[in-house]
Amino acid sequence: MRILILGGTREARELAHIASGERGFEIVSSLAGRVRAPLLPEGAVRVGGFGGADGLRAWIADNDVAAVVDATHPFAAAISANAAVAVRDSGVPLVRLRRPSWPQRPGDRWVRVPDLVAAVEATAALGERVFLTIGRQGVDAFARLERQWFLIRAIDPPEGPMPPRHEILLARGPFVLEDESRLIAERRIDVLVTKDSGGDQTEAKLAAARLAGIPVVVVDRPSLPEGATVVETVAQAMDWLDETRIDRGCT
Ligand code: NAP
Repeated sequence: MRILILGGTREARELAHIASGERGFEIVSSLAGRVRAPLLPEGAVRVGGFGGADGLRAWIADNDVAAVVDATHPFAAAISANAAVAVRDSGVPLVRLRRPSWPQRPGDRWVRVPDLVAAVEATAALGERVFLTIGRQGVDAFARLERQWFLIRAIDPPEGPMPPRHEILLARGPFVLEDESRLIAERRIDVLVTKDSGGDQTEAKLAAARLAGIPVVVVDRPSLPEGATVVETVAQAMDWLDETRIDRGCT
């Protein structure tokens, strides 16, 4: 039974690892091809866009895919929407594996915003020395903030316009509290900006901000496709795959 995992996350790699060769599953993982040196999952991997929902639908049919796990990042809204459209009326089941949001804890000074445009406004009002941890995409939205200084952290360098006063820090998580606290102190950061990505790989910055007493601009997640079946953990995705296999009579 061939399973397509839409990936680019740690959960997608874990699922590919657990499900590969297990109980009759054949896993194909798909990556967008954004990161220059991606961490590769176990099993077959294809790289690059499908060409919208129609392209994805054709790929699923041409490759005899029996089920799709959308394990992309919580902010990868376009591919999730495409997946929902691609499987519609096809009989191919789809599940969205989306890790839980980060919980706000006592002492946190969070300002929740709906999107990056609102994040720029909030950041301008909250601080002068910004730790921008939204990844490579979306940095251009902050380009018009000329007064603030930015520490921009991403795996690969951002492209396009950038705030004029900045330092780029290329790094891939996991990050630990001690290092995050040191960064905040050494760069004299007074506001942190993050997406509500969830997960333990990059959570330490939130604790570091809490300890430093600085505000955090938290960008809310985009909404899920209507009617999506959602699981939050790799174990739940594995259970869904097992149930799907039984439903299809593959034992
Ligand atoms: P997106 O905005 O939802 O997708 C834009 C386009 O990229 C899609 O329409 C699709 O192109 C292609 N694409 C995205 N994910 C793909 C995948 N797994 N396999 C094949 N094509 C894919 O996505 P994004 O936010 O740019 O994220 C791209 C990738 O980076 C995803 O795999 C995601 O899991 C990972 N990632 C994203 C973030 C983030 O903050 N957004 C953070 C960490 C990792 P076509 O329409 O041509 O098919």
